Amino acid sequence: MSHMFVPGPVDVAAEVLAAQAKPMIPHRSKDFEAMFQRTGEKLKTVFATQYRVFQASSSGSGLQEAGIRNFVNDTVLCCVNGAFAERWYKVAQSNGKNADALNVEWGEAVTQELLADALKKKHYEAVTIVHNETSTGVENPVKDLCKVVQEVSPDTLILVDAVSSLAGVNIEMDAWGIDFLLTSSQKCFSLPPGLAFGGASDRAMQKAETVPFRGWYFDLLLMEKHRLKDSTPMTPAMSLIYALDVQLDRMLAEGLPARFARHAAMSARVQEWCHNHGMEPLAAEPYRSKTVVTVNNSQNWVVGDLNKFLQQRDMRIANGYGKLKDLTIRIATMGETQLADIEKLLQGMEDFTRQ
Ligand SMILES: *Cc1c(COP(=O)(O)O)cnc(C)c1O
Repeated sequence: MSHMFVPGPVDVAAEVLAAQAKPMIPHRSKDFEAMFQRTGEKLKTVFATQYRVFQASSSGSGLQEAGIRNFVNDTVLCCVNGAFAERWYKVAQSNGKNADALNVEWGEAVTQELLADALKKKHYEAVTIVHNETSTGVENPVKDLCKVVQEVSPDTLILVDAVSSLAGVNIEMDAWGIDFLLTSSQKCFSLPPGLAFGGASDRAMQKAETVPFRGWYFDLLLMEKHRLKDSTPMTPAMSLIYALDVQLDRMLAEGLPARFARHAAMSARVQEWCHNHGMEPLAAEPYRSKTVVTVNNSQNWVVGDLNKFLQQRDMRIANGYGKLKDLTIRIATMGETQLADIEKLLQGMEDFTRQ
């Protein structure tokens, strides 16, 4: 049963937690290399890419930084319509890049028109887009935005953060033309926090060769050299990779289309319940996230009180994020959570309103 209806970390299956307890093996060994090769191949299926997926021992933000350091010499356009998109913009600035923000109202999506205008005004080496903005519950139309970049500025690399949506929502890295696609372990992958995955296109890797001062820990060219030998430059988070190996099998056994449909159904059910209780999502259709429902807190609920009530039943939801902290309520519908778990949560919320 799920109890963490918060947008990460989410519940981890007992079998996956248990996989972490396996004894250590040397990372320079055939056994480790075989496992690392396996997880790398399965990740390629989840990312819908023929290229490569890096497995980094960090949280997702580490790969936001890697994207900037490896693929941008100077200019980058950051689409900013929420807290995590804003973080990526700050990451670019703090790495000394010439970053421009394309600011869009929080709660709204980045549109093709806005992006086309910005790309016509100035040439950028890369553009950053957050697929699923976890603060506002907005899903940006990444497939359409990729088309705009390809039309207006075809040599601009497309960097996408799908931390709170990849493996819960269909994202096709190669078919859409995404150059760098990153995610974390603790959201739709239903793993403990501590791993980040990043798919990179060949074109992006070629660009990295022209970028000096990529740093060391997140130098994707160095990581690629080792990846080709099923290895990592540094000591990998061994226990988490044991868990990843098992969880990827579970995900592929469910089937990705079934997994995506389950996420969409859970999100629709939560939205329906909220609507019936006078709370509307911040995002308009068709930009509503399928993995986190962010609704206006129009009933002025004190989320702390609601959570105290829910915790008697071993469940919790999330308050708003950043500047939306008290203005919104967030209910995550991600990972291994099932519709039956959602019904239990909604019953708990119903009982809270009636006490
Ligand atoms: C959670 C989140 C992040 C940060 O990921 P960490 O794994 O905590 O570093 C970045 N982007 C989005 C969209 C997120 O939801």
